[in-house]
Amino acid sequence: MQTQSKEKLIIIGNGMAGISTVEQILKLNNSFDITVFGSEPHPNYNRIMLSYVLEGSKTIDDIVLNDWNWYRDNQITLHTGTTVTHIDPVTKQITTDDGKKESYDKIIMATGSNPFILPIPGSDKEGVVGFRDINDCNQMIEAARNYKKAAVIGGGLLGLEAAKGLVNLGMDVTVVHLMEDIMERQLDRSASSMLQAELERQGIKFAMGKQTSELMGDERVSGLRFSDGSELMADLVVMAVGIKPNIALAQASGLEVGRGIVVDDYMQTSIEGVYSVGECTQHRGVCYGLVAPLFEQGHVLAKHICGVDTAPYEGSIVATKLKISGVDVFSAGDFVEGPEHTVISAKDEWKRTYKKVLLRNNTIVGAVLFGDVTESSNLQKLIKQQSEMTDDIYSTIMGTGCCGGGASKQSSIETMSDEEIVCGCNGVTKKTIVDVITNQGLTSVDEIKACTGATRSCGGCKPVVEQILQYVLGDGFKTAAKQGICGCTTLDRDKIIAEITIKGLSTTREIMNVLGWSNEEGCSKCRPALNYYLHMLNPETHEDEKESRFVNERMNANIQKDGTYTVVPRMYGGVTTPEDLKKIADVSLKYDVKVVKVTGGQRLDLIGVKKEDLPKVWEELDMPSGYAYAKSLRTVKTCVGSQFCRFGTQDSMGMGAYIERKFERLDFPAKFKIAVNGCPRSCAESCTKDIGIIGNDGGWEIFIGGNGGIKPRIADSFCKVKTDDELIEICGAVMQYYRETGNYLERTSEWVERVGLEKIQSVILDSQDNRKELVKRIEIALQQVEDPWKKMLNDDKTRTALYEDHKLAISVE
Ligand SMILES: Cc1cc2nc3c(=O)[nH]c(=O)nc-3n(C[C@H](O)[C@H](O)[C@H](O)COP(=O)(O)OP(=O)(O)OC[C@H]3O[C@@H](n4cnc5c(N)ncnc54)[C@H](O)[C@@H]3O)c2cc1C
Ligand code: SF4
Repeated sequence: MQTQSKEKLIIIGNGMAGISTVEQILKLNNSFDITVFGSEPHPNYNRIMLSYVLEGSKTIDDIVLNDWNWYRDNQITLHTGTTVTHIDPVTKQITTDDGKKESYDKIIMATGSNPFILPIPGSDKEGVVGFRDINDCNQMIEAARNYKKAAVIGGGLLGLEAAKGLVNLGMDVTVVHLMEDIMERQLDRSASSMLQAELERQGIKFAMGKQTSELMGDERVSGLRFSDGSELMADLVVMAVGIKPNIALAQASGLEVGRGIVVDDYMQTSIEGVYSVGECTQHRGVCYGLVAPLFEQGHVLAKHICGVDTAPYEGSIVATKLKISGVDVFSAGDFVEGPEHTVISAKDEWKRTYKKVLLRNNTIVGAVLFGDVTESSNLQKLIKQQSEMTDDIYSTIMGTGCCGGGASKQSSIETMSDEEIVCGCNGVTKKTIVDVITNQGLTSVDEIKACTGATRSCGGCKPVVEQILQYVLGDGFKTAAKQGICGCTTLDRDKIIAEITIKGLSTTREIMNVLGWSNEEGCSKCRPALNYYLHMLNPETHEDEKESRFVNERMNANIQKDGTYTVVPRMYGGVTTPEDLKKIADVSLKYDVKVVKVTGGQRLDLIGVKKEDLPKVWEELDMPSGYAYAKSLRTVKTCVGSQFCRFGTQDSMGMGAYIERKFERLDFPAKFKIAVNGCPRSCAESCTKDIGIIGNDGGWEIFIGGNGGIKPRIADSFCKVKTDDELIEICGAVMQYYRETGNYLERTSEWVERVGLEKIQSVILDSQDNRKELVKRIEIALQQVEDPWKKMLNDDKTRTALYEDHKLAISVE
């Protein structure tokens, strides 16, 4: 048999470095019989993405890089949950912890690192974890379910990502840091303080300049004591103070080690035939802790071991990016200026951006970016190539004013050399990407990822890959840029809607089966979207799939940080009565409601209701649900209007209450807010609502597409109408057109930008027939809606399952 003549290659460590080296070897030739040993029970997964698993935006399945089939398809023998305990270079055999012995011709050590656990009293208590693997992640997720206060020791990249993840899981999180600046090994003081301010805004607390001397508690940790005598309570402590290369096996087997396993420029250890790559490796005195250098090492080793000519590995320049949404930070090379540096810097406190580039003898040697990291890949390349600063480079990086920005992206792609690395993590060049777009007709980032690996690891190069796509496809980009609604499918929204209609598909599962979803269960992105599209298309026949909805919509209440819920009764137009107020007060007292809060939309929010009390609270309130949790009409905010206000020209309270009654409970692609004002003074703020209505002497003016949230947008004037009937008709038509053409989760502010105000005006205002048809369809949908709590209170089975069964698994969101 052919395999008998193959050399036996053993990979010790089933992580990113080891398996990426195997991928390179497989590309070069088929001359090895490969066996992989890994201590963890999983196939190779993207460790970088654990931060996203923790914050809840990805699942473990999403981050698997090479699934079980990949090993089988490539005839690789995989032993998971198995640790290699000894290498015998004389007999050329390895031994495993379960007593197996296996002979080898060559070995690649890729044993990675272990998290460094501070050697202080109490560090072995329950509730103290590192942040390194799936097991750590699961422990943190579990702790967040049962405990409230967490401390993360270490304000570096890993510590901050862990802290943000725990905040997202509802914990009260303090980052404890020894130094006065967070990420001080990657950022200068300005960027560090901007970053800290941003993270504080996102809910992370900081205890700076604190040295932890002891972890307190009995069996489980209950807090931290600092060297200055102060204390911090915490039921979960994450140690993110650094990593230690995992050299135990190398040491036990007599390999030369320093901090890591010592290798030469071809990744050869002190013992012939035994190589090392990844975080366990020490090359020219340096151990790396980011993936790009590990992949570079793997490329050199793969070629070397396969007998292909290769330049030696000479070390890497590392760059850092933080993976916290809304926080863009980048640094590479030198970032703290010394007397030898020329400093170029720009700080914009309004836009919260900061750029600093350091030159030594006019050569670019380092950079820090905060807020706007579009030039990060470019800077990384310039630093690596030790480029001289020129006028052109200066204006590309620092911007040349209002007209410079647009052109610079295009020209920086144009001027990029073919061999320039775009994806630093996976070593993918511009040429490779251009070639696959041109030769294989690829049109999306996902396809490029699958084909070349670019964007597969940290994802930081995605903007550049998109720019290359745009550059190569030119005018074809916009149409080609349509991508699948999630990673389970390549179909976009329009295609899915068309297929549902043509093929008469009626359930999410049927759509996934018939349209060839890659993940047969779907994911938390596509399932709620499909459920919405089905219901919007077939309001009379589609049976709502509760299990496909986000948790708040399933529970008909908003879950809070502490696991309790909020209750918001409907108050049409923001108007209530003394009787209703009394009921609200009585119920709040009886069920120990923590806070009653007046919301921005003029409603009363009963905060802190226990899950099991929810049905009783609604039963006793006997008021309609305010839908404060739903992708639906939330509130119609009104001003006092002509009933009482001396400036009022229209009855805004009456109209607001009428609109709210008419359109409540209807599903929309995203939450929907309306305001009605009695005159242009607009006391109820029409300009930031999905639909804003302003009364005037001759009738009403309608505005659409406003938003006061994360991406504020002032609403556009849509039209003026003379009568109340016209107002209701046009509002209904706008809502239905948005329901039918909006992408799931797309707010009207984005929808108006995408579809175009003129187009929406022409559909609704230019054709009375169209308008009437839209209104007819919204009326049909409105006939199907019913109050969720009324329905729930009559449905004992669901009521018990959702509110009384404490083992209920929440799977979406
Ligand atoms: C939360 C988090 C976020 C990160 N973010 C980034 C980022 O944004 N950018 C970036 O570049 N890097 C990031 N990193 C670092 C990056 O993930 C690592 O550099 C990379 O995964 C290291 O790969 P490796 O293969 O060397 O080691 P590992 O991934 O640790 O793999 C080593 C494997 O070997 C196994 N093993 C050890 N000893 C044995 C033995 N004797 N027998 C069998 N198996 C053994 C281990 O169990 C482990 O599974 C992050 C890391 C974490 C934890
Ligand atoms: S918007 Fe006009 S009508 Fe309404 S309260 Fe203000 S001033 Fe009065």
